[in-house]
Amino acid sequence: MRFLVRPVLARPWADYLSTWSAVLVAVPDRTARYALCNAQWKKRRNKTETMKRVRRRLEDMNGRLATHCMYCEFNEANHLDHFEPRTRAPGRTFDWSNLFLACDACDGHKQARYEEDGTGLVPACPTDAASPPQTHLRFLSTGGVQHLSETGRWTCDVFDLRRPALVAQRRDRWVILRAFIIEWDVALDRGDVEAACRHRDLVRRPPFLSVLRDLLATADSPDADLLDLGPIADIIGRRPEILSWHENDLLA
Ligand SMILES: [Zn+2]
Repeated sequence: MRFLVRPVLARPWADYLSTWSAVLVAVPDRTARYALCNAQWKKRRNKTETMKRVRRRLEDMNGRLATHCMYCEFNEANHLDHFEPRTRAPGRTFDWSNLFLACDACDGHKQARYEEDGTGLVPACPTDAASPPQTHLRFLSTGGVQHLSETGRWTCDVFDLRRPALVAQRRDRWVILRAFIIEWDVALDRGDVEAACRHRDLVRRPPFLSVLRDLLATADSPDADLLDLGPIADIIGRRPEILSWHENDLLA
């Protein structure tokens, strides 16, 4: 999970969502409002041209990870998810700021989870500039996730970010990523710029981009010892440009 900047939605599509939000909010009875939002959402989410445009705008927002889940960043996103669930906030069903792309696993585990019982705690939101995900979560080279706050702990719980399949995916990609970086370094040493660029460009795309970004962010911090960097530490020392590889990851 990373910080995402939500783009402005163009006029006709924004108006469509606002109109439906106004209709839902105007229903005074909560049960009736939920029934209406449920029916309208199921009818419109994948079918209307506007909702298809909304999905494409979310893919733009997700940059190079376009069709990937915005929570785990690994699996294909098959769902338009409501960050604050419809069961809790039916009036936000068509709220642009509440819509995210999610995979089956994250969507399935999240379900109606949002606020932790008795604590008022809610998960980190990818678009929250005041409290971005990286201030709550740290991804390790073992594939595990360390929470840095109570919000981080609850975020791991809500999206099941420590599920074994995800941990294994992260760990395997880190191993391959490390091999590519070593190959990049060797290619530069022998003056083969073309091969070096090929290896660099490979790791700046899915499926390695999110692992690269998370791990280099920690490698460039006082907590670098938490990572199993091996020969990568030496390569970063000699070629610090590698630390900026994960920047501009929103570029297409
Ligand atoms: Zn996911």
